[in-house]
Amino acid sequence: MSFFYDQMEFACSHIVCNWTSGTMVTGLSSSLPGATSDPTTCPPLPRPRSVCDHDYDNRISVIPKAARALVPPPVPPRHFDSPAPKQPHATSDPPPVPPRGMEGSGESPIKANVNVLLINVGQLVDISKASGIQSNQKPVYCERCRAVMSAVSNSQNRQNTNGVWCCEFCGTENHLSGPGMLSRHPHLLLQRPCPGRDVLYVNEELDADYENLEDMLVVFCVDVSGSMSVTSEIAPGNAMRSPTYVSRLQGVQDALHKALSSLLQKSPHRRVALVTFNDEVTVYGDGTAVPVTVKDWALLDYDHLRERGETHSTPHCIAESLPSLTKRVKELREHGATALGPAALVSVAMASQYPGSKVIICTDGCANIGLGQLEQEQSHSPAPSPYFYSQLANYATEKGVIVSVMTFEGEDCRLAEVGRLADLTGGRVNIVNIGTVATEIQSALADNIMATGVMATLLAPDGVYFPFEDDEAHKLLREIGNVTEGFEITFQFAVKPDQVESFQRRDRIPFQLQLDFRTRDLQKVTRVITQQRRVTTSSWVWAGSLNMGVLGVHCAQLCARLTMEGRVLEAQNQLRAQQDLLKDISKQRPSPREESVYGNWINTMSMICEDLTTDNKESRETKDLHDPPSSPVTDLSDEAAKVVYQMKRAKSVASTKRTAEASKS
Ligand SMILES: [Zn+2]
Repeated sequence: MSFFYDQMEFACSHIVCNWTSGTMVTGLSSSLPGATSDPTTCPPLPRPRSVCDHDYDNRISVIPKAARALVPPPVPPRHFDSPAPKQPHATSDPPPVPPRGMEGSGESPIKANVNVLLINVGQLVDISKASGIQSNQKPVYCERCRAVMSAVSNSQNRQNTNGVWCCEFCGTENHLSGPGMLSRHPHLLLQRPCPGRDVLYVNEELDADYENLEDMLVVFCVDVSGSMSVTSEIAPGNAMRSPTYVSRLQGVQDALHKALSSLLQKSPHRRVALVTFNDEVTVYGDGTAVPVTVKDWALLDYDHLRERGETHSTPHCIAESLPSLTKRVKELREHGATALGPAALVSVAMASQYPGSKVIICTDGCANIGLGQLEQEQSHSPAPSPYFYSQLANYATEKGVIVSVMTFEGEDCRLAEVGRLADLTGGRVNIVNIGTVATEIQSALADNIMATGVMATLLAPDGVYFPFEDDEAHKLLREIGNVTEGFEITFQFAVKPDQVESFQRRDRIPFQLQLDFRTRDLQKVTRVITQQRRVTTSSWVWAGSLNMGVLGVHCAQLCARLTMEGRVLEAQNQLRAQQDLLKDISKQRPSPREESVYGNWINTMSMICEDLTTDNKESRETKDLHDPPSSPVTDLSDEAAKVVYQMKRAKSVASTKRTAEASKS
């Protein structure tokens, strides 16, 4: 596998045109017009029947082991004479007759869409490895769909028909010799060859002055509320000794001491600051100056809190501030309530002054004072607002700040709400205990921002759409924000039913990924990758050829997202389809242990969805019918919220391995 394919991987070697979400519905096809037409009367096209003619489609073939010698190539060649399925019945039950020549092989309808694409964004934004493909020209965009001209574009067309680029995605004719085009792209006059399939366009104008990579800030935002005094037994007693108990705060203090000394060793120039919260927010900064306290009314004033953070004096680097910070950490005492929201805001505002900075929040309770409170303590306090954490997360993302959230196990911290901070900024969400808090802080410290302001645009030809997205366009924009190492996103696409036939007549179809981002040194960059994929005209794919890693990551990310959006039933359908597919694949080839990870995710996620649907049913029965259904986000337990957030950022096993290897070397 080439480097190129590692960064952009398809689950299936070919594009399967005839998947429709309708395959989820049994008997749908029989009600469609033309469903009963005789296939022999169709015009002699390579693949004359439309998807509507099949009772089921996209079967995957599961071939018994004994027939291994007869196993066909992963996907049949283009003109493979796919046996005609029998005419549709009103119901898919009993199972349809297998195609001729494949009798006894056992086929089942494939409900999962295998047109899935995984993009390793973490690798693609690492431009230190892409110097060979750097271009200082500007990308040439299609006037209509904003596709970028590439090696895949019809360059012959360009030369033969007087500088016209007929966009391979939307069909628009772009006149390359037009006056506007030439003034923007003088190089087009020189008739240079088209740019390559993977090009890095670097915008020479910098956003701001060059920033030192080391010149970033780590803010530890630590809960010192009364509940942090809860102790746990860490060393069991025996006949000679009584057991040792440590409070949560002691556990955190110990973890902070470890974090400070490892920062001193690994990155002595890193700036470090401390913020604590209980009834009030205490800003220690680097610990060298008198701490600033924010309390009472100020805890409800967004602008005031933000200004407090943004104007705080520049913290010194850890090499200079270690003694004073260590002393402050040692002196921390626990009492009072949990002003988590205001403390998080001050911390993010401090970090916002240094792009690529981190805020690590460590708490053991539900935010109950000031902005972002999730529990209504007194009747006169304002009602909890679900928008605060999203608003704060957007502010952090805009400034290139990663927020990680760790909460103590056994407490309800409303992680579903607070976790939004980490989810949107690229940080970690985890539940810790006294024994694991130090390791978790170390992991959060190790996450490096590779790029900020990341925006992905995926283009496919007109006629392709992206299921589960709001509009049906052939172009999909996804705002990603901060990207850390190994970050992957997935897309699923399908061909619109009325376009299936025309797509099946095409040999290949193009895909283009455009990644716009700012690098750590604030260079504005656009990376454009264009690829062509072959189309399969067969109505089945061999399950053994599918890339389970890509499908597994996609299913995890999609189902987690759907659950967070309250689309639990859709998530459940996806999970069932994926489970069926996994079963078929494991019949086809024994799955290596690392692949079973995906199966585990799916099982855990299924249980969460199951709980949500039964909970919702019960609460709806007891509630007034006019009440709007409660958002499932608020119904999630901390444990479930943790799983969902972690699955939203699921990575393939291969990528996790790669990252581990890279950090070793
Ligand atoms: Zn276009």
